[in-house]
Amino acid sequence: MAFPKIVPLFIEGEWIQSESTQRTQVLNPATQELLTEVPAATDAEMDRAIASAKAAFQTWKEVPVPQRARIMLNYQHLLKKHHDEIAEIISQELGKTFEDAKGDVWRGIEVVEHAANVASLMMGETVENVAGKIDTYSFVQPIGVCMGITPFNFPAMIPLWMFPLSIACGNTFILKPSERDPLTPTRLVELFEEAGAPKGVMQIIHGGAHQVDYLLEHQDICAGSFVGSVPVGKHIYQKGTANLKRMQCMTGANNHMVVMPDANKSQVVNNIIGSAFGAAGQRCMAIPNVILVGAAKEWAGDIAAAAEKIRPGIWSDKGAAYGPQTNTMAKEKITAAIAKAKEEGATCLLDGSDCVVEGYPDGNWIGPTIFTDVSRDMSVYQDEVFGPVLCLLTVDTLDEAIAAINEDFRGNGTSIFTASGGAARKYQHEILVGQVGINVPIPVPLPFFSFTGWRGSFHGDLHAYGKQAVRFYTETKTITARWFDDEVAGGPNMSINLK
Ligand code: NAD
Repeated sequence: MAFPKIVPLFIEGEWIQSESTQRTQVLNPATQELLTEVPAATDAEMDRAIASAKAAFQTWKEVPVPQRARIMLNYQHLLKKHHDEIAEIISQELGKTFEDAKGDVWRGIEVVEHAANVASLMMGETVENVAGKIDTYSFVQPIGVCMGITPFNFPAMIPLWMFPLSIACGNTFILKPSERDPLTPTRLVELFEEAGAPKGVMQIIHGGAHQVDYLLEHQDICAGSFVGSVPVGKHIYQKGTANLKRMQCMTGANNHMVVMPDANKSQVVNNIIGSAFGAAGQRCMAIPNVILVGAAKEWAGDIAAAAEKIRPGIWSDKGAAYGPQTNTMAKEKITAAIAKAKEEGATCLLDGSDCVVEGYPDGNWIGPTIFTDVSRDMSVYQDEVFGPVLCLLTVDTLDEAIAAINEDFRGNGTSIFTASGGAARKYQHEILVGQVGINVPIPVPLPFFSFTGWRGSFHGDLHAYGKQAVRFYTETKTITARWFDDEVAGGPNMSINLK
């Protein structure tokens, strides 16, 4: 695949080369081959993007809803047509196996399909006769220029969580994708333009902390969606709201699976392997912690034996279970976390720190790694390792498992594996986590629901995609109307009551 030497910006409907000389290299994480360089947009370029998005909003918001929806239908068609090509770009710049990369694209397409239903999602409410011959009804209207800041780990799905729905609602959008894999979002925006998005409706700028702060401080941007790590999300939420923007920040996680002794053991083992090690553990809904309850404690050996059978590899290797870590820094951080866990007294059942993949000596490989005897004060448990590292914890009762999970400050996703409806019902009710799977390891909701991470995994009020995102990207206008059809009796109404 051929890539541009320097990733362009998309401003005012044109692909332009940034004037900036500050660039970050984008390397294939399996080979360290230089794929492209991504520039850090200048302030003047960002000003142009914002001005263009602001001007485009004036006309785009007037485009009839069905017409906006039709662009989403065209876009869905183009994304499907170029599905494998986009997946290959993801595999090149992020290293995901082809199957996993296809999932990244597909889960994004599902949000575009949802955005094509925008007219029914934007329906307001009506009540007739709230007082004599007075009716009240509401509309939702777009809010203006919105921005999106996205992480490296889902370069197709997460940008697609944001801009299609925001734009379908009548807003214009500025995307600042991760600097680690900018080629995928570039292709997404090219196809969006091809689908018929008018000039100025969508802009893409690149960069890092400075560019994000600049956007957050700009008065012409009214709302921001962020997905990324806990500390960055906190900063972005605080800075965005301090600048009076509406913000939704989906942040990091420390997810748990609870395994009850009545669960089907082979199902449990398979589901742990997929959710702990899939995508090299680089998913915000991955399962880095499994709590084995009661007699399920005996299953640690079965889990380790199954993990030993899988291995990472290059994206096109059909035998590879997952790909490399995103960059050498991430690999070093994970190997350091493994070393520290050993120092802190955890027992390493399987150690992937020295993983070698034949033919790819320079890849950022980490093999499946499993710890037992993990206590909750250890750093391997406390920190989001974001790699193929699994901690096995043990407790005697479901109550203890629930209490442990509820003590963690994050609450993105969780699952319980059990054959007991009573245990599952108790778990779904008492757990302080926003997305719960019952015998489903990674319960990422489809887009007609919303992505409802809780507590430290989310800052804001309205979550990503689904009906909540439509509320996030719109403002409600409530109209109280009366049409006179007779003479008004009496004098002025001096009270606040409707008469
Ligand atoms: P990150 O926080 O390092 O980066 C995310 C985005 O923020 C990038 O676009 C980056 O350029 C920008 N950024 C980085 N530092 C910044 C700063 N100081 N100021 C302003 N902007 C800054 O996250 P990442 O490493 O790309 O992604 C992995 C993280 O994302 C993990 O913590 C994972 O759990 C989380 N994540 C969460 C969800 C969710 O829905 N909750 C989904 C996917 C990933």
